[in-house]
Amino acid sequence: MVAPWPEVRKVTDNHRGWVNAYPFARGDDPILRFNIVHVDSRLADKSEPVTTEEVRRVLTEILEMDLDFEEVRWASRYTDAMRLATRFRDGRVFLVGDSTRIHYPASGVGMNFCIQDAFNLGWKLAAVVQGHARPELLDSYELERRPVVEALLQSVAAQCAVQFDFSEGGIAFKRMFERDLMPLPDVNRRLALELNGLTTVYPTDPGSHRLAGRRVVDVEVQTAEGLTRVGEQLRGMEFLLLDLTGDDPYRTSKFGTAPVRVVSGVPSLCPDDLRGVGSLLIRPDGYVAWAEDGVGDPDRADAAVSRWLEVTR
Ligand SMILES: Cc1cc2nc3c(=O)[nH]c(=O)nc-3n(C[C@H](O)[C@H](O)[C@H](O)COP(=O)(O)OP(=O)(O)OC[C@H]3O[C@@H](n4cnc5c(N)ncnc54)[C@H](O)[C@@H]3O)c2cc1C
Repeated sequence: MVAPWPEVRKVTDNHRGWVNAYPFARGDDPILRFNIVHVDSRLADKSEPVTTEEVRRVLTEILEMDLDFEEVRWASRYTDAMRLATRFRDGRVFLVGDSTRIHYPASGVGMNFCIQDAFNLGWKLAAVVQGHARPELLDSYELERRPVVEALLQSVAAQCAVQFDFSEGGIAFKRMFERDLMPLPDVNRRLALELNGLTTVYPTDPGSHRLAGRRVVDVEVQTAEGLTRVGEQLRGMEFLLLDLTGDDPYRTSKFGTAPVRVVSGVPSLCPDDLRGVGSLLIRPDGYVAWAEDGVGDPDRADAAVSRWLEVTR
């Protein structure tokens, strides 16, 4: 950019299109990144090169100002095409992340979901390769991730329907949504939870604890050895059998070579979600495999571990 640009992100939305602009570098050599959806230009073929003239024209039209820039350093054209692979696995080949789907990058959430695909599959592959789990465990990858990806694509489709409507009614709806609905805490929270990709609930057995299948909250736990965090204990990529009563009911539990770490302590600050919860068996990807209220029972914990891992005694 030649002309100075306001220091902050700027989103413009009108009947000519939508622009999301934010600085990548400030100072003497200011560089901006623009995401642009232009009412006509967005229909161009994806293989058509993006020219400096086109960038200048569409930005001027949407922003209704003359932009003074020296060069376009990098540009690419992407579409709202949406596709989902019919299966995520073929024998020894697994698809992860964007190789399972393509979609318009609505709300910039794609990577969160891709990383979670990889986490979901990663520990399962390691467990099977190292002989700690049966090969059937690998089937749970698609079973757990496909519904999440399907819901993501539904969300993207809904967002595209709103974002690409540049009619008078469409603009009026967006204004009303931004002004009257988005600031409502419940609406805001609902959308934030949907878009962060961290509120996934994986299928569980009937009668499971309310926390089973959900991502664990990263709380601080006071143990006999000192303060630790759930996230810290999961870094070893093992299952974590966590006693939150401090009674250490699993001190004599033996899981052979199965990758299970046992930790006993009490949460420093107990979030509402964990109130009354005595035991958690947490998978290496941070999802609760099993939970129980009150002081834990070693036999039931053992059964929960055996459901996921081969326990040799
Ligand atoms: C414009 C845009 C903005 C986005 N903004 C955000 C955002 O703000 N936040 C967010 O979370 N997500 C965002 N996303 C989505 C995010 O970028 C993708 O979901 C994510 O990068 C996908 O990660 P991936 O590893 O699955 O695939 P990729 O990042 O596509 O990685 C695949 C890699 O494989 C390489 N490759 C392909 N074929 C071969 C081959 N035959 N041999 C060897 N290598 C090969 C490719 O070169 C590439 O490096 C955005 C996407 C777009 C298009």
